[in-house]
Amino acid sequence: MIQQFFFIPFFFILIFGVLWFVAGILICIWVYHDAKSRGMDGALWVLIVLIANVLGLIIYLLIREEKRPYYRVSPYYEKQARFCSNCGSELAQNAKFCTKCGKAVP
Ligand SMILES: [Zn+2]
Repeated sequence: MIQQFFFIPFFFILIFGVLWFVAGILICIWVYHDAKSRGMDGALWVLIVLIANVLGLIIYLLIREEKRPYYRVSPYYEKQARFCSNCGSELAQNAKFCTKCGKAVP
């Protein structure tokens, strides 16, 4: 009877611990790929999240938000693509005019 009383909370703590552990691994994988896709140091951010835990993740999300450009463009994509100065739509590589608003491209 006493054994059962102690076993049930232990069982829930174990499940919670396993879920926490799995979630932690998934978050680390996500942070690594997300940081890399933004040209940030993936390994460094995984380390920060591992040390600071939830706080590290919050710090990452805040800093990541600041570094994000006005429109969602990666540094690599930015070099390739051009945007209309009038309407902001994406232009073809050698376009002379914007296909959306017809403004001449300088
Ligand atoms: Zn345009």
